Amino acid sequence: MIDGTRGPAADPHGESRRGGGRIVVLSVGLALLLLVLVLAVLAVPTLQEYRRAEATGVERVGLAAAGYAERVASLLERADHLAVAAARLSAFRAEDEGFTVLRDSLTRDVRWTPALDGYVTVTADGKILDQFLKGRADMRAFSGPAVVSRNRDHWSGPVVRVARPMGRQAWFLALERGEWTQNGEFTGAGVAFLSLESALREAVVGRLFENALIRLQDQGGVLLFESRSAEGDAGQLWLSPQRHKAVLDLYSNDAVSAVQTGWSDGLFLASQRVPGLPLVVSVQIPEAVFMAGAERSLLTVMGVAAGAAVMTLLILTVILRDRVIQRRAEGRLREAEERLRFALFAGGLSLWELWFDSGRMEIADRVIGSLGYRRSAWPPRLRTVLRRIHPEDRRVLRGLWQQLRGGDLSRCSLDIRIRTAAGGWVWNRADGRIADRRPDGVPLRMIGVLHDVSAEKGREETLTYAATHDPLLGLLNRQVFDDACRAACGPDTRFGMIVFDIDHFKRVNDGFGHAAGDQVLKTVVARVRGALRLEENGQLFRIGGEEFVLLLPGVCAVAAAAVADRLRRAVGGQPMTAGPAALTVTASFGVCGSDQISAVTVGDLFGPADAALYAAKDGGRNQVVLHRPVVPEPQASGG
Ligand code: GH3
Ligand code: MG
Ligand code: MG
Repeated sequence: MIDGTRGPAADPHGESRRGGGRIVVLSVGLALLLLVLVLAVLAVPTLQEYRRAEATGVERVGLAAAGYAERVASLLERADHLAVAAARLSAFRAEDEGFTVLRDSLTRDVRWTPALDGYVTVTADGKILDQFLKGRADMRAFSGPAVVSRNRDHWSGPVVRVARPMGRQAWFLALERGEWTQNGEFTGAGVAFLSLESALREAVVGRLFENALIRLQDQGGVLLFESRSAEGDAGQLWLSPQRHKAVLDLYSNDAVSAVQTGWSDGLFLASQRVPGLPLVVSVQIPEAVFMAGAERSLLTVMGVAAGAAVMTLLILTVILRDRVIQRRAEGRLREAEERLRFALFAGGLSLWELWFDSGRMEIADRVIGSLGYRRSAWPPRLRTVLRRIHPEDRRVLRGLWQQLRGGDLSRCSLDIRIRTAAGGWVWNRADGRIADRRPDGVPLRMIGVLHDVSAEKGREETLTYAATHDPLLGLLNRQVFDDACRAACGPDTRFGMIVFDIDHFKRVNDGFGHAAGDQVLKTVVARVRGALRLEENGQLFRIGGEEFVLLLPGVCAVAAAAVADRLRRAVGGQPMTAGPAALTVTASFGVCGSDQISAVTVGDLFGPADAALYAAKDGGRNQVVLHRPVVPEPQASGG
């Protein structure tokens, strides 16, 4: 339905906008759900794997630490045995058989045990009684008397100390034992050297400790040995002994358990007491050693998640951007419609639309209402409209219609009269243009506006009337007469012309005033009109002050003269009122017919007719003179 005057309250886009909003919310929701699902599917197993790797790491480091501690303990035990045996050597004299046997056993022990580096036997006065060294031990700092002083009164167990605590490659432990006779006399001491580097190499399981830190501390926390891989050193990964202990104490308060394990600062940590000795082995292994695979998976998942998030954001951005563009376009469309409505309203215009194929034609409610019809009485068909158009305009419209359908015209403008419900006519101007065509150019649809032009038509008619009629008497004026004179008037067409003038009219004006003169003029014209028969179809012109012409198409000269005489009698037949007086007014008539002269135009008749009028005046007035003296005797007939 077209309605150019609908108010702005109606919003035809509201529904679609709400629908669009729901779609956006739905797409955003779906996109987010998809993202969460993808993340869940990827992340859950990866996180599980990561957790497993973490737990395995802690466990393996714990196991390794325990294994290493045991290995160190067994080596220390062997070193302790070596130290005890070396000390016992001090109780023998060199020439004793036992001395040689024991010495051989000691030497064999050192030779066949890679971690053992040698032994030294010191006499009670601090002198070296015997020694067997593989050559790796640095003996420059070795002091026999110091060994004696450390061990002379020490029965409880071995004195364990760092033999040379400098340089990573030269960690040696020295285990010292004293020897006493049965009656308690101190005979000397034995020192066994243990290469912890070798011990480590023997204890290492696979490549586990290639990137690791291993510490051996006594129970007082004094560092006896430390092995650190260069890789970890470069990253400055390692925790200090104090922090290591603090972390593990936090993880497991169970100080009794032999192995403590934990995780901190990207390191797996473990500590293990060396069985049977007052020593603790600590191990630190970077998380990456165990977690590299898991971390890679985690990174992949995070990468995928980030990619998915970016994709989702992109999709959302595109959707939102489209939404914004659509909103703007809708807004602009609404504004344009609003403007159009206002423009139509302000211009008094109403839309119409016509579909050529179906003959459907919609017209704004405003037009139908203004014509006094109910909407139901106006089905949207072209024939509904045609039925109510003035027959003259309908003919023109049909012609236009053919031209439009045939493609000769693409727009049209036509003033048509439409019948109102009350039976009157209202002028409307219909402007339209073809809006859609088939590819072959045949028009499909036409749109246009209707505009009530009744007022304009009224003004036009008034102006036309004023331009063509004389205001006093309402007769066609000189202008129209001149136009009429140009009409063709061949020899075969009968055409009569009567020119007449009131006799002595000046006297009326002079005697009774101009108003009385006007009154006389009106009466004369009324009498002339009254005397004209309907079938005479004459046209009466006022061509001068009180000079008139009557054109009589289809009438010959003689018949015209008869008409003139009838008029003459009608004018002067009885007195008429002129102001206060009653007068008898007469007129003189000159007549000419196209059958009398070879006229080409109507105007050609005027000269002879006017001449005849003058002849009538000259002849005494109140008479009719025909151009040709068909009526030779001027007839005078009074009132
Ligand atoms: P004749 O018989 O020879 O025609 O004599 P006449 O007095 O009628 O002379 P004429 O036709 O020349 O007179 C024209 C006069 O008509 C002159 C003018 O004052 C008068 N007249 C012209 N138009 C009007 C008018 O509209 N109203 C009035 N009252 N007088 C008019
Ligand atoms: Mg006159
Ligand atoms: Mg005159």
